[in-house]
Amino acid sequence: MTTYPHLLAPLDLGFTTLRNRVIMGSMHTGLEDRFYNYGKLAAFYRERARGGVGLIVTGGISPNRQGWLLPFGGTMNFIGDVVNHRKVTRAVHEEGGKILMQILHAGRYGYQPFVVSASERKSPISPFKPRALSESGIESTIRAYVRCAKLAQKAGYDGIEVMGSEGYLLNQFLCARTNLRTDRWGGSIENRMRLPVEIVSRIRQAVGTGFIIMYRHSLLDLVEGGNTWEEVVAVAKALQHAGATILNTGIGWHEARVPTIVTSVPRAAFAEVAGRLRREVTIPVVASNRINMPDEAEDILRRGDADMVSMARPFLADAAFVEKAAQGRVDEINTCIGCNQACLDHTFSNKRASCLVNPRACHETELEYKPAAAKRRIAVVGAGPAGLSAATVAAERGHDVTLYDSSGAVGGQFKIAMQIPGKEEFAETIRYFSRKLELTGVKQQLNRRVTREELLAEGYDDVIVATGIKVRKPAIEGIDHPKVLSYIDVLQHKKPVGKRVAIIGAGGIGFDVGEYLLHDPSLGLPLSIDHWTAEWGVDLHAKTGGGLVPPVPSEPVRQLYLLQRKASKPGAGLGKTSGWVHRAVLARNGVVMLAGVSYKRIDDQGLHIVVGGEERLLTVDHVVICAGQDSLDELMPPEGTAGGPRFHKIGGASLAAELDAKRAIKEGATLAASL
Ligand code: FAD
Ligand code: NAP
Ligand code: SF4
Repeated sequence: MTTYPHLLAPLDLGFTTLRNRVIMGSMHTGLEDRFYNYGKLAAFYRERARGGVGLIVTGGISPNRQGWLLPFGGTMNFIGDVVNHRKVTRAVHEEGGKILMQILHAGRYGYQPFVVSASERKSPISPFKPRALSESGIESTIRAYVRCAKLAQKAGYDGIEVMGSEGYLLNQFLCARTNLRTDRWGGSIENRMRLPVEIVSRIRQAVGTGFIIMYRHSLLDLVEGGNTWEEVVAVAKALQHAGATILNTGIGWHEARVPTIVTSVPRAAFAEVAGRLRREVTIPVVASNRINMPDEAEDILRRGDADMVSMARPFLADAAFVEKAAQGRVDEINTCIGCNQACLDHTFSNKRASCLVNPRACHETELEYKPAAAKRRIAVVGAGPAGLSAATVAAERGHDVTLYDSSGAVGGQFKIAMQIPGKEEFAETIRYFSRKLELTGVKQQLNRRVTREELLAEGYDDVIVATGIKVRKPAIEGIDHPKVLSYIDVLQHKKPVGKRVAIIGAGGIGFDVGEYLLHDPSLGLPLSIDHWTAEWGVDLHAKTGGGLVPPVPSEPVRQLYLLQRKASKPGAGLGKTSGWVHRAVLARNGVVMLAGVSYKRIDDQGLHIVVGGEERLLTVDHVVICAGQDSLDELMPPEGTAGGPRFHKIGGASLAAELDAKRAIKEGATLAASL
């Protein structure tokens, strides 16, 4: 008996059977763009297929040059392209998996000068104005899709996914927002859907019946001028009629100002929308977005909201997700925490994708945890992300590892981070590592603030110093006034905080503390889907175009000031794909953000500052210090010390400035893999 009977049930498509209901959704890894990276790409997919996923979808491959997302992006338009892709299909098939190639034409989202779209409307997220496709341009685009699908078939793929959502070309034709045409490709929904429907129909004629055509359909555009629910359903029915095998679903255009996948979006927030579509068509429907654990996925299938569940980032975090679920080892799953820091933020910076909690993702052939040549006795001091990563990888490789932490529980600063509304998922990383410590046999010495002398006395071969940081206390007059609290006082020691608060420091932690202080505790955490949709102005029924409605006005529980000395925009250094969400939450709650501030003093009246050459008094009850950290590395031996164990320094202990957990975990794993 399995806990996940629906998730693990095979799906018979008539001409082929998928081994379970789990799809690894399409992700642009950056490896698909260069022929010499296909060996690495094949290794990446091989591990996921070995881990039991039912159906894999590749990152987007363009059918022609106009469709490139980035200059010289992965393209499939001549027979020579097939050779590289065969490495990928062979690897997946050898592991018993199935794989679709996603055909993605970026349309006006292309970050290159050849961009085309339905009309000449520039997107707010690309500097390139598109050329409107002519009638003959549309015909050659259709032919490019068909050629691309036939080549994918030759390369051994089990099918293709036509990317029709997230605001890419086909979505641009589907919506009045970007389709201003007056010919037979624009105007009514029948005309606007002509291009995607024609593409599916012509691909079906070309590839025959035994080839999967999955179409990724936008259920909620979440932009002005998006489609209504009736239009979404009409398109779905036409796609089914045209020969689609499966309808995958997408939520929100990339330019939407509603978050759809970051950590603060409630798990499975959009599954019920997929459920409504499922009742309108007879082909399988897939639910997607912020589904990251098997329990949610099973619930969605059991409720009848979908026939399959697509998870993308969870397979960066853990290649063996399905295998672990099937074997009742859910507590061993390395859960995607929705941070976007190593995946989407990398993609949008033109860097290879990876994963904050799993630095091996997309580096399978480069970062390997091979059995150690000789067993070493290793001490790891500090059980934050860096130390946990180092200890578990070293022990997994066969070393004898002892982990020390001065506190009574592992997790380091992640125990504080998980207090932030929308960062509850960080607890999953602590749960994962706690279990991994048990499985790999790491000896734990908690509540033990270890000294260098004690470590030397133990005679270790290696000491890994992962002791993190000490909080910076800025030299401001009145810094010891009772009004002053550190972010540790607020988040960890839960000291009471008044109604008017100034936050000194507008980095990641300053923003997080802002969100924490704005949260109304009576709402609980995580936020309910109803509350979240009301806050962001989302109508899951899409009665009006795009599913947008006026957000419910915020009633801030506090008046906050968020301050920094730099003249740049506060929050400019936050994540590329998540920073705007944090800025929007604070702006919606009336937080006053001031840049170019100098701090004069803190006294009974409040915080005295100078900004724009003028003195100001912020009459606040408390001043919360979020002014960064300095490394805590006092265990390191003085330079030139000879003999004794080898000392290594990782994570915050190595570099506190700009440190984040992505670097901490990667440094720990890379060091441990080398010992
Ligand atoms: P730490 O997590 O600081 O761990 C160090 C550990 O060493 C501690 O457990 C400490 O008790 C122990 N220790 C210290 N000295 C000794 C000693 N002598 N003996 C024994 N034990 C000792 N990062 C992100 O990437 N994304 C985010 O969204 C994010 N959000 C954050 C939100 C908040 C509110 C906070 C506070 C941090 C956030 N961070 C985030 C930062 C992230 O948590 C840190 O980058 C990460 O924890 C650093 O890991 P570390 O292992 O180097 O250090
Ligand atoms: P940070 O990002 O370095 O920000 C520190 C802030 O304090 C800055 O706004 C800085 O701005 C100010 N500051 C620095 N020295 C000061 C001084 N002497 N006096 C007054 N102000 C001073 O650090 P953090 O916010 O503490 O975050 C720690 C790490 O955790 C960061 O590396 C961050 O990336 C990570 N983190 C990430 C996220 C995320 O969402 N990705 C969230 C939380 C934390 P000025 O110098 O201009 O005043
Ligand atoms: Fe998930 Fe963050 Fe890893 Fe991306 S980097 S896959 S969001 S945990």
